[in-house]
Amino acid sequence: MSECLFCKIVARTIPAALVYEDEQVVAFDDINPQAPIHTLVIPRTHFASMAELQDADVTLLGRLMLAGNKVASLKGIADAGYRFVVNTGIHGGQSVFHLHLHVLGGRHMGWPPG
Ligand code: AMP
Ligand code: ZN
Repeated sequence: MSECLFCKIVARTIPAALVYEDEQVVAFDDINPQAPIHTLVIPRTHFASMAELQDADVTLLGRLMLAGNKVASLKGIADAGYRFVVNTGIHGGQSVFHLHLHVLGGRHMGWPPG
């Protein structure tokens, strides 16, 4: 997926403020933060959205979520609490079509979401 923005971040051909990485995922700060802490966790492998995941991808999905927990600890928001968001498809508000987990924190999150 040479034209995918987030694949380019994985490949380091465009810069990002890296927060965490391992064999399966990369985490970097969102360029347009919606909260004091706003980091994205993405799989190194390209999936257009959550809707593409299959049973075989359950371990990767777990890795994505646990990496979100690591990000929360690294950013110092684990105790206060935080929110994971995965926008999926057009009605879900997705704008970048490489699966990503938003990790949001540093302020109280409203409910319901917009
Ligand atoms: P979504 O709307 O759920 O698809 O989220 C896409 C997110 O990617 C948005 O919050 C954008 O601010 C963020 N974003 C877009 N381009 C970049 C970039 N180059 N580096 C970091 N975050 C980005
Ligand atoms: Zn991609």
